[in-house]
Formats: sequence, structure tokens, C-alpha cells
Amino acid sequence: MFQVKEIYYTLQGEGARTGRPAVFCRFTGCNLWTGREKDREKAVCNFCDTDFVGVDGPGGGKFNDSKELLAAISNCWPKDLEQKYVVLTGGEPALQINQDFIGGLHNIGFEVAIETNGTLPIPSNIDWVTVSPKSNSVLKVESGDELKLVFPQEGVDPRKFQNLPFKNFFLQPLDGEERTINTQKTLQYCLENPLWNLSLQSHKYIGIR
Ligand code: SF4
Repeated sequence: MFQVKEIYYTLQGEGARTGRPAVFCRFTGCNLWTGREKDREKAVCNFCDTDFVGVDGPGGGKFNDSKELLAAISNCWPKDLEQKYVVLTGGEPALQINQDFIGGLHNIGFEVAIETNGTLPIPSNIDWVTVSPKSNSVLKVESGDELKLVFPQEGVDPRKFQNLPFKNFFLQPLDGEERTINTQKTLQYCLENPLWNLSLQSHKYIGIR
């Protein structure tokens, strides 16, 4: 059984693949927060900007097996277009996916990306791995295609990650009331530490999901 909040076709808004058309499959649930406001203060991750509770979003639902979920993802990709690409996100997708499911996506022609907090093992056959480490959590996924750190995070120094084998290193301003000042801090950090590149949540600026 898979529980999915929503599935939709859009453009990737963040990181190295910004602008790339993708089906987003947002899995329900996360291991670092319940998703309920009353629990936010005590959560390991307390700055989340995503609704990953329940299965009531567009295209969301409970899928009895991978065949059903594969069909739902496939149906979101425009007919007759190539370069099929799916981003498994959440919540924390690693709570629900496995090697066979990724293999199934490959079999129907999708390149597969994951956005994970990196605290749980992930299948080895994923094509593009984005890890977004959170303070007060233990990083288990220590390599991948991009490490995208929300910045600033209390108690997290980007230098802690800079020797890990990732191909891209991004800092992304922490959203919320202090977005402007956090953006200034982020771009200042990038200017002084060129390993790190700025990632903006461009979907928020242009009004897409
Ligand atoms: S780890 Fe990601 S999905 Fe989970 S609460 Fe934090 S930002 Fe939200």
C-alpha cells in the first residue's frame, strides 16, 4: 500500500534541474515531523513548508500496489511526450519506496529523482538523488547528485557537508517571515564560499506548484 498526498505535472522549481518538466509524486508522511501544526515546535524539523498530511491532494490517494501507483504517475505525463521524469518527494519518500518500485518506473520509461532528508536508506537504482539535511538528524545518505541545504539552520554549518561526494552543493534560503534576510545571508555565504551555489524556490516566485 502506498499513501500519496498528490501527483501532478509541473516544472522542477529548485536545484540543478530547475525548469525541467517533471511529474511530482508527493508521498504522505515524514519521519522528522507529523505535519501537524500542534507538533511543529517539538519536531526534529520545524521549518517545513509542505503539506504532506493525508491523501487528499490532486491525484493523491491510497494505492494498493506499485502497479496502481505506476499507472497514476504515468497518466500524469503528457501523452506522446518523451524525456519522462518523475520526482519522488514528500514528506519523506524513503519511508515508502523500494528497489522494485523504482525498477517499475524505469520499465515504463521514467528517469527517477528523489528528494529526501537523507535519514533513511534509499534504493540504489534511483537516477538523481537530492539530499536536504536537517539539523538534529543523522545523515545516512552521504552521497548523491546534489546536496541542498536550507540556510541558515540553527546548529548547522555547511562546512560539515562540503567533503561529501555530491556533484552539486546548493544553499537555499529558509522561507518564512525572514525570507529576505535569509536570502541575503545565503547569497553572502555563496559569494564567500564558491563551492556553494544559490538555489531559489523559483516556483514560489512564478506562482506554480
Ligand atoms: S524533512 Fe522535509 S518533508 Fe520532513 S518535515 Fe522537514 S522539510 Fe518537511
